[in-house]
Amino acid sequence: MARKHRPQRSCVVCREKKDKRALTRLVVIDERLQVDVTGKAKGRGAYLCADSACWKAAQSSMGAALRRDLDADDREYLRQMTPS
Ligand SMILES: [Zn+2]
Repeated sequence: MARKHRPQRSCVVCREKKDKRALTRLVVIDERLQVDVTGKAKGRGAYLCADSACWKAAQSSMGAALRRDLDADDREYLRQMTPS
């Protein structure tokens, strides 16, 4: 029986482990926080689950995970990307 490789990642806020594809990876590229649509962008990344509460609470956890203080633009970006 073939066993599928399912990489697991944790949401930086609720710490819930999920299938990597169920999470959104955010990375800092050219000093801008952005969603890693390919899932393969280089650099330090942080994962968020699809729970909007996690996105709303993400600023400090995200900053710690990315070792970067989120600036106003980053926070606005997070707000815009928050799942409804
Ligand atoms: Zn979460």
